[in-house]
Amino acid sequence: MMDIFQQPEEMQAWSKARFREGRTIALVPTMGFFHEGHLSLMRRAAELCDTVVVSLFVNPTQFGPNEDLDRYPRDFERDMDLVRKESVAAVFSPTPELMYGAGFQTEVRVARLSTYLCGASRPVHFAGVATVVTKLFNIVRPEAAVFGEKDFQQLAVIRRLVADLNIPVEIVGHPIVREADGLAMSSRNANLDPANRAAALSLSAALQLTRAEAARGVLATAELGRMVARHIHSFAGTAIDYASFVDGESLEEVETVDARTILALAVHVDGKAGKVRLIDNGFVLPR
Ligand code: AMP
Repeated sequence: MMDIFQQPEEMQAWSKARFREGRTIALVPTMGFFHEGHLSLMRRAAELCDTVVVSLFVNPTQFGPNEDLDRYPRDFERDMDLVRKESVAAVFSPTPELMYGAGFQTEVRVARLSTYLCGASRPVHFAGVATVVTKLFNIVRPEAAVFGEKDFQQLAVIRRLVADLNIPVEIVGHPIVREADGLAMSSRNANLDPANRAAALSLSAALQLTRAEAARGVLATAELGRMVARHIHSFAGTAIDYASFVDGESLEEVETVDARTILALAVHVDGKAGKVRLIDNGFVLPR
């Protein structure tokens, strides 16, 4: 039987009881509308600890005022059907009111890492993420937590947060899970227009093109960046938020590709009802 909790206090009491029994918890934080990427994180979590907890919370504080909070896809029953097939002991799915009660006023902010890439166009995003993840860690008290490399800046922010605040959680990254045609899986893909799939595929295609050029010896990121922009803009309805070559740890931009360089992409494409913001990333050189 899988337990489902809405109340933070009940979740916390359950976790405390598991801890007293000598069990170890691995947490998978999500915003729901599960796809194979989420499920693979849950399977990874089951390898790390004997008890897996999944949190499902579309966290309003990590969305800016004109972002897609209202359009974010949700289907709790479908998600529960999927998660019941995995080795998941409990789901924590609070409401915003339960997470941010009257008088709430604390914020956790990872200063520098939160300003680059997604942070430049989404100024409140990573403070929202860092704060909610800190709360989730305190409520669930996991030994380990699994995050996808698709959101690699989020992963970097959380690694920094845990190191800086001495939070006793092992942070585990999991590789990007893709559709057969290369599209990185995302809950937001449900809002894509199938007729416009080629535009959505331009991110992973640009990554492949970049790798091919780098393999031919083109390592100047200015030149590679022009090629990436040309490719993505060749599809109607695309608007690049950023296409940046960054150091995989500091997230600072680099001029020449080396073994640590990641191409990070965020692109708006035309969807069924308004623009959909997609992200993708990967190392440029083979690992
Ligand atoms: P989300 O529900 O989109 O906030 O994602 C919850 C977790 O799943 C985050 O750690 C994401 O990085 C991860 N995730 C989302 N999509 C993928 C994917 N295609 N491959 C691997 N991890 C993913």
